[in-house]
Amino acid sequence: MTDERPYNQNCIFCRIIAKEMPAKIRYESEHVVAFEDINPHAPTHVLICPREHYPTFLESPPDVLAQLDAAVKGIAAELGFGERGFRLVINNGPESGQIVFHLHYHFLAGKKMGGF
Ligand code: AMP
Ligand code: ZN
Repeated sequence: MTDERPYNQNCIFCRIIAKEMPAKIRYESEHVVAFEDINPHAPTHVLICPREHYPTFLESPPDVLAQLDAAVKGIAAELGFGERGFRLVINNGPESGQIVFHLHYHFLAGKKMGGF
């Protein structure tokens, strides 16, 4: 975490990650922060974000995606869903319904999910 990292002061997730706005943080590492979704769609609904600001999945460098993937494994274990299972969702771009343009994975767990 350095002052040079991509930061957008108009981005609500950058502000949460910088602790300028409140959130229920469930996981933090050098590169990744995960906090509870304010409008949960499952008993556990956590948003997993890189500390650096990248608007979409497609605009994010591979090393950042690898850091998020590693964090997913840690979060699944820490929150107790390694065996039970969980769903990951990434919205990318206008037709996906993405509303916050700071890369995040939705981690959904704690109930039996419906099929697609
Ligand atoms: P997406 O549609 O993938 O961009 O999802 C953005 C998610 O961010 C939504 O599920 C919102 O409920 C959630 N959200 C928006 N503002 C906040 C906030 N201040 N704290 C936590 N979650 C938020
Ligand atoms: Zn941001």
